[in-house]
Parts: sequence; C-alpha cells; structure tokens
Amino acid sequence: MTERVLSGVSASPRTAIGEVRRLDAGGEMDARVLDDGDRPAAAAHALDALARSAHELEDLAVRLRADGRIGEADILDAGMMMAEDPVLLEAVESAVLSRGLLAATAIRVEVEAFAAQLDLLGDPELAARAADVRSLARRASRLASGATERSDGSSDGSVILVAADLGPADVIELDGDVGGIALAAGATTGHAAIVARGLGLPMVVGLGADLLSLAEGELCILDGDQSVLIASPDPGRVSTVRRAMVAARESRARSMAARALPTVTRDGRAVRVLANAATPQEVRAALEAGADGVGLLRTEFAFLEAHHWPTVAEHRRMLSPVLTQLKGMTATVRLLDFGGDKTPPFLKGVSGRGVELLLEDPEALSWQLAAILETGDATELRVLIPMVTEPSQVRAVRAAIEPIAARQGNRVPIIASMVEVPAAAVMADRIAPEVALFSIGTNDLTTFQLGIDRARPGGNPTHHPAVLQLIADTVDAARAAGITVEVCGEAASNPLVMPLLVGLGVDELSVGAARVAQVRTWVRALDYSESARIARRALNSESVAEVESLARPLRVLLDDAG
Ligand code: PEP
Ligand code: MG
Repeated sequence: MTERVLSGVSASPRTAIGEVRRLDAGGEMDARVLDDGDRPAAAAHALDALARSAHELEDLAVRLRADGRIGEADILDAGMMMAEDPVLLEAVESAVLSRGLLAATAIRVEVEAFAAQLDLLGDPELAARAADVRSLARRASRLASGATERSDGSSDGSVILVAADLGPADVIELDGDVGGIALAAGATTGHAAIVARGLGLPMVVGLGADLLSLAEGELCILDGDQSVLIASPDPGRVSTVRRAMVAARESRARSMAARALPTVTRDGRAVRVLANAATPQEVRAALEAGADGVGLLRTEFAFLEAHHWPTVAEHRRMLSPVLTQLKGMTATVRLLDFGGDKTPPFLKGVSGRGVELLLEDPEALSWQLAAILETGDATELRVLIPMVTEPSQVRAVRAAIEPIAARQGNRVPIIASMVEVPAAAVMADRIAPEVALFSIGTNDLTTFQLGIDRARPGGNPTHHPAVLQLIADTVDAARAAGITVEVCGEAASNPLVMPLLVGLGVDELSVGAARVAQVRTWVRALDYSESARIARRALNSESVAEVESLARPLRVLLDDAG
C-alpha cells in the first residue's frame, strides 16, 4: 500500500509507530454464512469470547478500584453484566446456530441491536450507556476473531487508537498497549487530550474523515510534534522516525537524570514545578520525574459517570491512593469541577459549573471536604476552588471547611482559588485577601477571554495579549496581597508560553506528569530578567503573531535545552 499523509492538529507531542486499532470497529463485518456442521463450535466460541470479555472487564475494574478510579470501574461493571446477560447470550447463540453468522459478527450484530434500542430512547444518559455497550462488542468481537494478536512485531506491539472522537469516559480504552491516539474530530483542550498529555501519549486531532478509512492493523506513524499521521509509511521513513524516537527517549532520560537539580533560572529565580494529575499512576510518574508535589488534582475525573454526588467513602477511595504518596509534600486538591464537558449523568441539564454547583448542594460539598481533610492530613494540603467568580464563594467554602476540620481534628488547609474565568482575574485584588494561592487555569481563561470554543480543534492561544494581561493582573494582585501564584493550565508546559509566564512572575508551574522533567529542564535554561523584559513587551503587542515573534528567542533556548 502506498504511503498517505493526513494532517491534523497536535493535542499531545511525541511520536509513536504502531498498528491501527479502530475504536469503532473490530474490522469489517464478515458476511460469510457458516455450514451447518460448523455452527455449534462457532456458537461455543462466541459465548467463550463474551465470557473472556467479562473476565477481562472484571480484572480491569478491580485494578481501577484499587487505583481509586471508582466511576470508571462502575462503567466496566455494567459492561461485564451485559457480557453475562442471558438474553444477549441467547441472541448471540441463536444468530450463529440458526443464521450461520460468524462468532465475531454475531456478537457485533446482536450487541449493536441492543445499543441501537438504547439510542432510540433519546435519553443522553442511556446514549452514553449505548457507547459502553458498543465498547463491550468491540472487545468481545476482537477476542472472537483473534485480532488481538499483533502481526509481525513491526510496531513494537504498540497500537495507534483511531476513532471519530473520544470522550473522557473512553480514556479507559487507553490502558494497555495504546501508544498514540488519532482522532478524526476532537479538541486539543478536551479532557481526553489532557489525559493523553498526562500519560505522555502522542495525540493528533482533527485528522478528518479520511482517517476512518484506515484498515485495522495498518502500520502508521503518529507524529504529535508535526501534527500528522502517516499511514503505510515507506520503510526508509520508518527507520528515520525510529532513530528520532530513540534520540528523543535519550533526551527525556537526560531530563530525568537531572531531576534532583533545583528548578532555578540562570539568574537565580526559583520556580517550583508541580504536577497535574487525576490518578495515582500520574502522581507516581510525576514524583519520579522530580515534581515538587501536585499542583492540580482533578477530582472530578473519577466521577464522570456518577449517578449521585460522591459519598464520603467514595471520595476517600479515590483520594487515598493519591494522597498517601504525598506525605509532607504539596497536595493541591481541587474540589469537584463538574459542568461543561465534565457533566456526570446525575447533573445532565444543569447550567452551573464548579463551585457554583457545590454551593447549591452544601451536603455534597461537606462530603468531599470531610474526605479531603482526613486523607490529606499528612500532606501540605491545599483545597483549590474551581470556577471562582467572586470572593463570597471563597468565604462560603472556608465557612464549610472550618467546622469540619474542628470536628475531625484536622488542620485547616491552605485555601486556593482557580483564576480561570476573566471575572476572577479582573477581581483578583478582591479575591486575593481571601486565599493563600491563586492557580491560573489558562485552558478556560483563554477560551472565555477570547470567546472561542474549548472543544474546537486547533491551538488555544494563551499568548494572546488580552489573555497575558489577565495573567499579569492576577500576578500583580497576588504580589500586593503577598500570596503565591501557580499556573496549572496547559500553557504551563507550552514552550512558547511558559517563558512568558515565568517572565510575568508566576511562582509555580503545574504540568502534566509526562512533562515534569522537561519543564524542570526548561526553567533552568531560562533567564528570568530577559523573560520578564519580553513578557512586558508582549503585553503591549497587538496580536498573537507579534507575541510569537517576540517570544521566539526564548523558545529556541528551550528547544536547545531539550
Ligand atoms: C484550566 O481551565 O486551565 C484548568 C486547569 O482546569 P480544567 O482544564 O480542568 O478545566
Ligand atoms: Mg478549568
């Protein structure tokens, strides 16, 4: 097959070589009809594939529960029950015995019929269940057709996951041998992209409908730096890319080796580098890379499939495996930031977001606070409030925290406010006296300030002068109040924007676990006074393009540092 190049938008850097795994297919449906004599064995094979899927899902659910990923484990339980449902088993058996369908085809046809019924009900919650049911069909039909065996070892056993789009719940599929993600649609700031960056998986989105014509098992190169997918690459190109991958791995190894060095700019300004995380694995990886702790724990990720506000016990199960790793270290636990593309089924239809929703349900807030204070008592605990728009919200959360701390005998934690809505940046001088830390969420701040859709493919230009101004105002208000400023949005690990953030005076950068070592190296390569000079000029610029050309010399410094 000849080489084809598809262009998209990079959502996560690095390169992977692997075979295509279509998320929406177990290969083309095979329409062959079996001879009568072959049918009993094929029916037994189909039932066996469903039973093995149930076992796989059960094992995966146990591992997720152990990691505190309760919501995701619950989704798998539902898939497991489906795989054992007597009605489905009978339908699959009969599709093979009486209609002569192949085992894999029978599974996909019968599970699809069930999923289509759920779709028809027009309920968004049931439609999400239909996606989970289809995910079971993919797994079972793969097992039935034996497609999990990799062909010739040419891809190092790595798989490039190919799909139309990917929601946060699909992140479960990232477990195992997935080496990269290619999406026909998708957004760089979507939560699946954030998880991919956290795991260090290359991801390219917006590759267009042609992506979906790739064949299951086709070899491809996914280049998250050049934003392309190359299908059926020439052997010469494969060797070149493999050599580049080895060099990149070596450069990452050098950054890792430097993890004990302090993160101080060449002219002596200390900048702490922390990690964004949602799982215990990310925390482990971040600490190994030298992170000074966790600067953003996205607690809502564990509960995206919840059917009720998480209870104290559920919060405890999610938090404990993360916070036990952070004894004596910074642990910034963000309160549930539900809403937008992080709306669980039980909140479908609500319009609020973050702290607004929590304050509408004081009992739900108190459950999460009780668990955070208890499980985080041995850490340098910070409670971070999402989507703050006015000081009264911070006062309300503090009023909820104090009695719980007194009742449980826990210390009152540091209270921190996200600055991710322009209103918070504009009122930073009034919010600052209420908190000890500002954490600037550049993902939302950029999209709200520029009126762009967070879910659109394409970059999120935090270096727009109007966004940089909000960040500068926030830093100034923090300085005046004597509090710390962190940036926890994706811009903190963007080589173009990160030097400007340091130049504007932020104290801490919180970045995806896979970027910690590199960002630590970058801090040491920068000169603070030079970054400050360029950042001040950027504030007075007229366009993103002008800021890009101003910031280019700083970016070159980082590129040279590795
Ligand atoms: C942000 O908005 O930059 C942020 C860190 O929050 P999230 O990405 O979880 O919305
Ligand atoms: Mg946000």
